[in-house]
Parts: sequence; C-alpha cells; structure tokens
Amino acid sequence: MSLSIGVDVGGTKIAAGVVDEEGNVLEALRRSSPAKERAAIIDMIVAVTAELAARHKTASVGIGAAGFVSSDRSTIAHGTNLDWTGLNLGQAVSGRVDLPVVVENDANAFGWAEARFGAARGKKNALIVAIGTGVGGALVVDGRLVRGAAGFAAEVGHITSVPGGRPCGCGRRGCLERYASGTALGVNGWELAQFRPAYAARIIELSGGDSSHIKGEAITAAAREGDPAALQCYDDLAGHLGRGLADLCAVLDPEVIVIAGGLAEAGDILLAPTREVFHTEITARRARPEIPVVLAEGGQYAGLVGAADLARQV
Ligand SMILES: [Zn+2]
Repeated sequence: MSLSIGVDVGGTKIAAGVVDEEGNVLEALRRSSPAKERAAIIDMIVAVTAELAARHKTASVGIGAAGFVSSDRSTIAHGTNLDWTGLNLGQAVSGRVDLPVVVENDANAFGWAEARFGAARGKKNALIVAIGTGVGGALVVDGRLVRGAAGFAAEVGHITSVPGGRPCGCGRRGCLERYASGTALGVNGWELAQFRPAYAARIIELSGGDSSHIKGEAITAAAREGDPAALQCYDDLAGHLGRGLADLCAVLDPEVIVIAGGLAEAGDILLAPTREVFHTEITARRARPEIPVVLAEGGQYAGLVGAADLARQV
C-alpha cells in the first residue's frame, strides 16, 4: 500500500501526517509555527517530513498552504497570511527530503479530503466551502479537483455579495467573504453592540462586557441560548451565504455542497437559515434535484489527508 505524507501549513501551526490510500492517518505530528519568516517555516516543514519519513516508507509529500498556488503545484504565486509570494515551496522542500513534493491551496486540500473520504464521498460533482476567518472553496467536477488555468479556481469567497460594499483584502469591495465569514459574524455583532446595545446585551456580556471587542464565539454561544440579536447576526450572514451558494450552483450544478471551516461548528445555527435562503434563491428549483447543504466530516486532519492524497495523483 502506498503511503503519502500530508503537511497542513496554517498561520499559527503546522500539522503533518502519514496517510494511506483510504485516507487513514497512521501517525500525525503538530508543531507551532516558529515564525512568519519563510526560511523558518520551510525548516519546520522539512523537519516534520523527515521525522515521519524516517519511520514510514512513504512515496510522496503533499503540502496544503494558504495562498494562490500556481498550476505547477509547487510555486506560491501569492501568499496571503505568510510571506512567501513567489516562493517555489515544492522545490525548496523536495531537495531536502528526497521525495517528490506537490503544493496545493489549503482549501483545495481540505475540500479534496471531503470529496474522497468525507461528506461528499461517492459524489463526482461537489462544491466545498470553508468558512473561517475568510471563505475558501474547492470544486470537484467529474471526480477531479478543478484548479483552473493558472491554479486559482474555486476562490468562492471573492464573488460579489454587495456591490461597492465592505473592502476586501483581494483589492475589491463587497466580496462574499466580507459578509459570510467568521470575521463578518464579528462585524455583525459589533454593529449591533454599537447601535443597539440593549438588544445586543447578551452578546456584549459574553464578550467580557466590552462592546468594542465583540467575539465571534460570544455570538455563537448567545445564539445557542436562543438570543435574538445573536441569531440575527447569523441570519444576516446566512442570507449572503445562501444567495452566494445559489449563484455558484447556477454555474456549477454540484450534487452536494459541503460546509467546512471553523464556523461550521455552529451547526444548524448556521445551516438552517443558509439552507432556507439557498433553496429559495436557487434557479430552476422545481426542475433540478435537490442539492443538499451538509456539514464537513473530515475533522482536524482533513487538510493534511487531502494534501497527501493529492500528492499521489501526480
Ligand atoms: Zn475579495
């Protein structure tokens, strides 16, 4: 059986694991990222890979990284939260670990794990949307991951949700990510705390009493209690998300939509209003088969499992 190493490089930690062909993690390691400097991060990727390769007979390495990864599956064309724009990460690592290395966008890696082993397994056409600090995505069509011509496909967080709206890190305004991410949830709560403090009292209380520092977790906790202001924060987010998903389905026609990322932990608080808007907004809803909107199943290692599996498919 062919084993592959997957490495998931996040903003604050690196997770690596040995993965078999069924997506099982045989051994995993976690390290805090030493710094934002690229040399230190490359050293750590090499160290965890070498440690795992010394104990397991592995054939390839897949690295899931935040940012725009070129279609060569090696170069970071544009780094987002790490300073490695222009870096040929695959080459920098493969020369030091003596294994073939491929680099994939982190959302693609995560999404591929869902498509192969998680909530979209058995489906040939799936849209996976990861909602955390931002909104990432992966697209599987006819059983293959869609990377696009330059490698930048499935950046679903940057479709327009509100023309001329909130500024986005990508340089545009009004992107879906500005209205349907964990960050956006915090903004919704902050706005209520500023302008309707009595209504948002429970959110403010759970944020430690400071109305200028509203925490996303406080909104989710209040929503679980049934607090109307917190539920409104989620309803507002779900409105943007549901419409965005309906727009994407008009183009992509997937069999299933998988919602992943930190905000997916809110479960039905997020999913129920999102499904309602999505099913109202989707085109040809009477004619098309229902497209289920479901939660991801991959768990904490999905990013590295997907990266490892993609590394086998050179
Ligand atoms: Zn954007």
